[in-house]
Formats: sequence, C-alpha cells, structure tokens
Amino acid sequence: MTLHANLIDGEWLPGEAVPNINPSNTNDVVGDYARASADDAGRAIAAAKAAFPAWSRSGLLERQSVLRKASDEILARKEEFGRLLSREEGKTLPEGIGETVRAAQIFDFFAGEALRLTGETVPSVRPGIGVEMTREAVGVVGIITPWNFPIAIPAWKIAPALCYGNTVVFKPAELVSGCSWAIVDILHRAGLPQGVLNLVMGKGSVVGQAMLDSPDVDAITFTGSIDTGKRVAAASVEHMRKFQTEMGGKNPLVVLDDAELDTAVECAVNGAFFSTGQRCTASSRLVVTAGIHDRFVEALTGRLKNLVVDDALKQGTHIGPVVDQSQLDQDMEYIEIGRGEGARLVFGGERLNRETPGFYLQPALFTECTSAMRIAREEIFGPVASVIRVKDYDEALAVANDTRFGLSSGICTQSLKHATHFKRNAEAGMVMVNLPTAGVDFHVPFGGRKGSSYGPREQGRYAAEFYTTVKTAYTGM
Ligand code: ADP
Repeated sequence: MTLHANLIDGEWLPGEAVPNINPSNTNDVVGDYARASADDAGRAIAAAKAAFPAWSRSGLLERQSVLRKASDEILARKEEFGRLLSREEGKTLPEGIGETVRAAQIFDFFAGEALRLTGETVPSVRPGIGVEMTREAVGVVGIITPWNFPIAIPAWKIAPALCYGNTVVFKPAELVSGCSWAIVDILHRAGLPQGVLNLVMGKGSVVGQAMLDSPDVDAITFTGSIDTGKRVAAASVEHMRKFQTEMGGKNPLVVLDDAELDTAVECAVNGAFFSTGQRCTASSRLVVTAGIHDRFVEALTGRLKNLVVDDALKQGTHIGPVVDQSQLDQDMEYIEIGRGEGARLVFGGERLNRETPGFYLQPALFTECTSAMRIAREEIFGPVASVIRVKDYDEALAVANDTRFGLSSGICTQSLKHATHFKRNAEAGMVMVNLPTAGVDFHVPFGGRKGSSYGPREQGRYAAEFYTTVKTAYTGM
C-alpha cells in the first residue's frame, strides 16, 4: 500500500506507517499514513517560521488563487472525498459528501476574503497626526484537529490561517488522516510556497505536545476534548501565545407544549443521533415540558425504531458506526451509568452486529432523567440522549442553562414570546429556534461560551480576530 507521507518544508517525508481503519468494517484498511516524530514537528515549525516573512507579505491574488483552486478541486472530487470521509470516520455517505462540499465552500469564502482585507483611518486627538489601524498576520499557527469532522474542521482553520498571511503546522487526529492528507496535497499542488503549510500526522502526546511546547508557534487553534484543551491553554499561557480552544458541549433542545410535534421530533433525531451523535453541537439533553412529554417520547421512540444503523457507505443507512473501540466503550459505559443513576432506557443502547465487523451501536434514549445525573452533565459524544421533564418554560430555560458548557442551545415552540426570550437568555454561543442544535452555516461565527470554548469565534469574517493581530500606526504630518 502506498504510504501517505508528511509534508515538511515542501518535501513529502515518510515515517512509521499507521493503518487507517474503517470503523464500519475493521478488516478494511483505508490507507497507510506516516507517523511524524517530535523532531519532525520541530522541523515543520522551523520551516513555517522561515516561510512566514515572505508569505505574510505575499500578494493577495496569490493567496486568493491557492484558496480558490483548493475549493474548486475539493468540489470537483466531492464524491471521492465524501466516500473517503465516510470510510475513515463512519458518518453516512450523504453526510460525508455534505461535509466535503462545506469544506469547498469555506475555501471559496476565504479566497474572497483575501481580497477584502480592510483597515481604518481616523484623525488623531492631537492635531496634525493621522492614525491607521490595520490587521497583520500573527505568525506560525499550530492547527490541532479532532476526528469528528475530518474535512470541515481542517478547512475552517487552514483557510483563514493562509488567507490572512500566516504559515501553518497542521496536526490532524490520527484516526482520520485521509481527508487531512488530501487537503494538504491539494493546497501544495495549488502552488503554496515551501514551508507555508506543513502536515505532521501523528500522536497528540508526541506531535501535538511538541507544538504546544515550542516557543516558535505563535498561535494555536484547537478543537477536541476538554482535557487536551486545558493543556493547550496552559502551555499557551506559559509561552504567552494566542490560543483558541473549541471543546464540546452538552447542548439542550427545549421542547415546549406548543411545539409542532413533527418539527420537535425531527430536530431531536437529527440533533441527537445523526452523525452517530459525534458532534460537539449534538442535542444530548432533551428538555421537555409536561404537556407534550409523553407524546414527544412516543413519537421519538417510533422514529428511532425506523432508523437504519449500518455500514456508513451503504445506501439507506441513517446512522453509521461509532468511530472506534474506545469511543464505543465510553458510550456503553455511560449507558450503564445512566441505568445505575435511575434513568429509564426506553430505547436502544445495544451493540449491533452487521455483515461487516464494525462499532455499531443502537441509538439510546433515556427518560426520567434529572439535571443532576452524570448522563445529563457530561459529554458522552455518542448516540445517547437524555429526556428531562420540566413543568414550564421557566424551568426549561433554567435546566437548559444548568451546565458548564455553552455551545449550542435549541428550542422548539410556536410562541414568539418564548422564542425571543430564549434567544436572549440561553447561555450559549449559538441558539436555534425550531432547528436542530447541530448544523450551522459556514459564513457566520461558530463558537460557544462557558466551558465549551475559549478565545475568538471561528468561521466567517469573525475568524480574522484570531488569525490576525491589530496594529495602530501614528503618522505626524
Ligand atoms: P478526542 O477525544 O476527540 O480524540 P483529543 O483532545 O484527545 O480529543 O484529540 C483532539 C486532538 O488533540 C487530536 O488531534 C489529538 O491527537 C490532539 N492531542 C491529544 N493530546 C494532545 C496533547 N497532549 N498535546 C497536543 N495535542 C494533543
């Protein structure tokens, strides 16, 4: 099998081969990917540092052209990459293709942004002096990504980093090296100068840690677990570098008595269980008022019975496998915890066998949950949702906000009063009305509050906050 190498200073460098395994069929090896060492990470950082002065002053058309070419090629190969994504990560093929299109749209957006850089000129408070405010690139940006969005998250970090003139050291999650390698290959062929974008696939504890420990990494953008996010934060403070961490959620979907039942059930099915529940915006808490509770649970359970859990690449599959054995073990453990806490498992939670050996899990729905239970407080990151019964809107809002997370918060209601109040009072970075908590646009800010996120928002024009630094220049005349 061909070894997919790391890209360091414009050269493809081999390393220890790590097989990329298909979670729908563990006999299927997607490809072999080179594992970088801590030294490789050091070389990549040095290359990015050396490439920074020229790239940060490069012509805007050069940046726009590279990003535009990447967008065009990703879009032209969307079926191929969608299949690769579903094969390595386990979300269904339509989801894989959808995410690939999203990545292309993000590169297209930032290709345009490269030509829309602006600054401000204002008079000084002192006569005869002019003041200019401009944005400049930050330097070497370390990008560390998780496995659950193998093409979209790398795209939404790499595209703005390059657009604003930064150089990059990119470390994807080892479980999903395929899409990351493909993006880097495309950008490299699109004409990036050597050293501007470096790929170091490998272990977080080795390659990722080497990036955190390097004084030459000027900014780190991270999406992943809370524990690693805290390490990123601590190391970044130590080096006085800019950082941004996106770390998950325990997102509530509130369903009020006056909600349209079908809409609420679809929001719950999509938000809690699609993509196997492996989204930081997943609706893992369903907060339901008493008047609709029983009808909602019955309709939702009915829907769950008809969902097909199978090979991600099979036509007709609604839910693919869990990403790997350790995530599956964690999901099963939480299902046991839920039972032990006194929640009622009204559907699913069983391991499933399919034609091929894979990590199949029936979506699990708990009722009779309270906000105090671990299954309602801790991020499970699997197809497991907890229904919490509340008496009215006020209690629903209080329960929705009763979490250390604050990424996305949803409500299903036909009441303008409650929808408006909820938009204003939900303690979350994103609020959804009559929509699933997961599923966002690519041209507007993404991010959360409280324990979910730290640092500036990602995506859209707000991305400039993180990927640039502001300069204020005074000129005496
Ligand atoms: P998950 O549970 O989703 O795998 P992690 O936080 O473990 O979340 O992984 C997210 C990313 O962080 C991955 O690319 C992983 O390799 C990387 N990572 C893990 N440990 C470290 C570390 N000590 N330093 C830097 N990056 C790390």
